[in-house]
Amino acid sequence: MGRCSVFDRTSPTVAGLSDELGAAEWHVTEWGFDPEQANTFETLFTVGNGRLGTRGSLEEGHVGERSGTFLSGVYDAYQVPVIDLVNAPDWLSLAVIVNGVRLDVQSCSVVEHERVLDFRHGVLWRRTVFQDPQGRRTRLETLRFASFADRRLCALRVEVTALDHDAEVTVQSALEGRRRNLERLPVYPPGTSFPPEVRWDKWAVAKHLVEVTKAEQDDATYLEMRTIDSGISLGYGATLRPSQQPDRRVVHRGYERIEEQQDFAISSGQTLRLDKLVSIATSRDQVDDVQTSCLQTLTSHAAAGFDASLARSREVWEQMWADSDCAIDGDPEGTRALRFGVYQLLIAANGDDPTVNIGAKSLTGEGYRGHVFWDTEILMLPFFIYTQPDTARSLLRYRYHTLQAARELARDSGLRGARYPWESADTGREECPIWTVDGANRFWTRDEEIHVSADVAYGVLTYVEATGDIDFLVDYGAEILFETSRFWVSRATHDARTDRYAIKQVMGPDEFHSHVDNNAFTNRMAQWALTQSAHVYADLSENHANALTALAAKIELDPDEVKHWQNVAAKIVYHLDPKRGVLEQFDGYFERLDVPITEWDKNNMPRYPKGYHHFNCEDTQLLKQPDVVMLMHVLPDEFSEEVKKANFEYYEARTLHKSSLSPAIHAIMGIEVGDSTRALQYFYRSALVDLANNQGNTEEGVHIASAGGTWQILVCGFGGFRVRHHQMTFNPWLPAEWKEISFRLRWRGNSVQVAIDHDAVTFTLQGSDGATEDVVVTGEKVTLQANTPVTLRLSNTV
Ligand code: BGC
Ligand code: BGC
Repeated sequence: MGRCSVFDRTSPTVAGLSDELGAAEWHVTEWGFDPEQANTFETLFTVGNGRLGTRGSLEEGHVGERSGTFLSGVYDAYQVPVIDLVNAPDWLSLAVIVNGVRLDVQSCSVVEHERVLDFRHGVLWRRTVFQDPQGRRTRLETLRFASFADRRLCALRVEVTALDHDAEVTVQSALEGRRRNLERLPVYPPGTSFPPEVRWDKWAVAKHLVEVTKAEQDDATYLEMRTIDSGISLGYGATLRPSQQPDRRVVHRGYERIEEQQDFAISSGQTLRLDKLVSIATSRDQVDDVQTSCLQTLTSHAAAGFDASLARSREVWEQMWADSDCAIDGDPEGTRALRFGVYQLLIAANGDDPTVNIGAKSLTGEGYRGHVFWDTEILMLPFFIYTQPDTARSLLRYRYHTLQAARELARDSGLRGARYPWESADTGREECPIWTVDGANRFWTRDEEIHVSADVAYGVLTYVEATGDIDFLVDYGAEILFETSRFWVSRATHDARTDRYAIKQVMGPDEFHSHVDNNAFTNRMAQWALTQSAHVYADLSENHANALTALAAKIELDPDEVKHWQNVAAKIVYHLDPKRGVLEQFDGYFERLDVPITEWDKNNMPRYPKGYHHFNCEDTQLLKQPDVVMLMHVLPDEFSEEVKKANFEYYEARTLHKSSLSPAIHAIMGIEVGDSTRALQYFYRSALVDLANNQGNTEEGVHIASAGGTWQILVCGFGGFRVRHHQMTFNPWLPAEWKEISFRLRWRGNSVQVAIDHDAVTFTLQGSDGATEDVVVTGEKVTLQANTPVTLRLSNTV
């Protein structure tokens, strides 16, 4: 049976790899093949580079596999109710046949099986010993990666060792275009379960690809498929280079596939090695000819070879970790989980493509069909802003790229300006489904979770503040801010009697409550965004007058409109209960049934009170996920310490954490208000969401927002990092169990290494000589000088 190594501290035993892999905090291991766990490991072991993600399926496949390669931005809507991130052609496919027996978990018995994801270098290692029905043993070792040095390249190395017999070995390496997305699970009676190997066969599937061509050129094979509705050409080229001359090489052309076969004879104890290099070009890349471009890329990498390609990719990984690493001294499992999350974030985003973003499951699975949510700006973007700012810029450019669609969505709702959709894909249209798959429930999220437009504005402003990237603001950000401001003032309704503005018929982040008026999160975020947009307008008119004039002419904006934004912002409704200091989540919330939470699961997380489920909490005060508490996390300086504490306590008792976005925010806000009792528990809940599969659906893809949230717990929660008055400020708190935490932050072109223990904080500003930066630690200001560590003692922490 398979075991997940997450809780195991021993080093891996893959021959010769222990030194390469280094400390256990840099990898996750699978021991043994367990069909029940296989789909989860497929998700966890995804390799990728932001342009593509390839799930960690076995190269030869197994019955019950959910394999997949996903290319960022490649969506298709052919014959499906909701657009899909396409399960793209498979580059990995490789089968080894030894003495007529296919090496796979169904045809042979598995004597040993071990896989290691090394997230320091972005490679997946495998070692399996198969025994055939005659008792002959053969070892299969593989190594795969998706290159970060050239995002068009993927590579697989295979080593076959005949352990106790002379062998006829056949290797079949394919480019497989016959892929299907899962469409929906037909409804079965409650309690129906299927064995792991037939589970997916019960789903309806959707076809998104048709074949364009297949070809051979020199020693390369080529397959080109095209998405049916969106018309994107996907060209894959492959070479398969063996360590010894094959006895025979033959290419088989099949339905939507091309396969290269090589045959060898090897003697007992001998190892045969093959390197498969695959280049992927698409018509999204704006190349003249997909096939030519694809094969040219392949030729140059094949000439350099597997080792050189791996070395180049590893160099990029080293650079990325130099900016993004974080660790907890005293908690190797916590460190491993943190780094696993950072790895997932790094392979999720393509900083070179401003027309794509990160879906709720990144490129690791089909969950949420690859759609983009507010998750990006609120949960993930801070990680990118403070460690990979160029990538953050690119993610925000996606919102600019989709601004026109947001304008159309506003117009279609009878409103002005730009309204971002709750879920988007390639074009920026609203892609949220209307119904649940069984048709039993309506999703009001698409109609009512309009806060996403303010969340995008928040992302823009946070990025500009941290980077000082005024060019971005002038070229893209201001237009997003101004157009979304227009949306807010046209969406708000004026009550002449009270002279206040209401925002009615919405859903806040807490998705248990739809059709509510004056959701605190929505109203306050809209108010904040309007106010900030007016500030940006004033700032540009003073410092970048020409650019503002051009933009104002382009979108026909005049100063009176901006005054109106301020007027609406000043009069937006919100309710603070004066006695308790608690913000009412929406009009009438306090009158709803106050159902106590009385049961917790084995992870000490709340269970639904008896009789309640996702779709019937409407009449209660129960929350799916933080709403007011989220507001206070996002805008910490808009509320006094007392108000934050009172709200945390009130809503904490009523929050069920039924979204993976939830625990991180409660960890951070608990620490902020001095109630750290559950901070560690929330940290692990968030950090291990996929490694421990604690939402039970990791097989559908990683919870990438949770990875962003986990990074924020370390930095903003335990590190107490906030930006205040244009400065980095820290107010740390460390659990007694931990010795030290460390992380790095990019700030206005410099990089600051931060190490925090129970007594002191040490900063090292890494930048050009003469660079300085002010930081504030528990209220005390200190000026950092480049490359000179500074240690400040903490007086008021435990
Ligand atoms: C999510 C919503 C989403 C809907 C449809 C639900 O599970 O909570 O935010 O809009 O799925 O994708
Ligand atoms: C959450 C949303 C989130 C979505 C995608 C839902 O379950 O309620 O806040 O945006 O998942 O991650």
